[in-house]
Amino acid sequence: MLNELQNVVRLHELEFGQDANASLIPNRTEAEMARCRAEVRPAILARYERLKARYSQTAVLEAEQGICPGCRIALPRYQIEQLKRSLVFCDRCGRILYHPDAVYRMYA
Ligand SMILES: [Zn+2]
Repeated sequence: MLNELQNVVRLHELEFGQDANASLIPNRTEAEMARCRAEVRPAILARYERLKARYSQTAVLEAEQGICPGCRIALPRYQIEQLKRSLVFCDRCGRILYHPDAVYRMYA
């Protein structure tokens, strides 16, 4: 079971084909995307859809160095702390940011 952060990142991966296996099994991908959407709160999902329309494949980004890779702003300390547990919205560009440790440690 993925948490909300993982579901957002996974949904974005699936929609933009960053998962090499996804394109090979289109039906499974549709089903998985539907599952991801069902596990994300409607407000977050709506925000994701707006970001996707605006930024496409850079709507969701890794902020590993404490910087938003979308607009290059340095994140405030509290957001860097927040990244360890959940997703963060960039104050300047609004993109969804995540730290890979918070997302991928639970995939294993
Ligand atoms: Zn930004």
